[in-house]
Amino acid sequence: MEKQQVLVKGKAKTVYATNDPDKLVIHFRNDTSAFDGEKMEQLDRKGMVNNRFNAFIMQKLQAAGIPTHFESLLADDEVLVKKMHMIPVECVVRNIAAGSIVRRLGVQDGMDLNPPTFEFFLKNDALHDPMVNEYHIRSFNWATDAEVAAMKELTFRVNDILKKLFADAGLLLVDYKLEFGRYHGEVMLGDEFSPDGCRLWDAKTREKLDKDRFRQGLGGVVEAYEEVARRLGVPLE
Ligand code: ADP
Ligand code: UDP
Repeated sequence: MEKQQVLVKGKAKTVYATNDPDKLVIHFRNDTSAFDGEKMEQLDRKGMVNNRFNAFIMQKLQAAGIPTHFESLLADDEVLVKKMHMIPVECVVRNIAAGSIVRRLGVQDGMDLNPPTFEFFLKNDALHDPMVNEYHIRSFNWATDAEVAAMKELTFRVNDILKKLFADAGLLLVDYKLEFGRYHGEVMLGDEFSPDGCRLWDAKTREKLDKDRFRQGLGGVVEAYEEVARRLGVPLE
């Protein structure tokens, strides 16, 4: 598949058109950002690790019946996907309290959430991705009621699948963010699933093995992602 013009240069990935109007190539760069793009660094190998990690997870989800945009791995840092119209909200499920929910609600960091919580955020860096509810999504026409229902249902199904996958590798899936899009009328999972967009803790020690290492300046960021990949059996080389 031939890469053509750049359609979007995001904070971590670049999206290219192809000669097929229904397909895109996504290039995973080494750029790593936090705090809505305020902190930016290049981390060696990160593009490759996240691309391969994402391909592994997307294929597991697809095998479990979740519709995703994933088509095929093209290179170490490139993937072929279905071209979607992205829905501009982020879907976040939390199994354990960490990050913004602790700051917002003053709840105990690390507490188990039973049942898991679900939150929508508007994808808008300039506004710092504010939390929104289903009424906002409807009133501003970001998605239909049926699409909202599909995003929630799929995000919770992903939780059941991935909680178990990570638990079997000695990891706690603390929380994660998903983005969805429309492809010929169907809601499908898009973007990526990698340690850049979720929190993963070692089940025994609760050591952080995700992007919080970058946000908090703990070091060993890509090494931690590689450790997670190794435990899951993601082929990296
Ligand atoms: P951001 O700066 O928004 O976090 P990234 O660097 O991750 O973005 O760039 C990826 C961009 O590609 C995002 O805008 C994302 O919504 C979009 N995207 C991801 N998957 C698809 C897809 N299958 N079709 C169209 N756009 C997509
Ligand atoms: N997340 C993300 N992109 C965002 C916001 C959040 O990937 O723009 C992920 C984040 O990595 C975490 C989960 O969504 O796994 C919940 O993030 P939270 O709301 O706690 O925000 P943060 O503490 O990251 O600001």
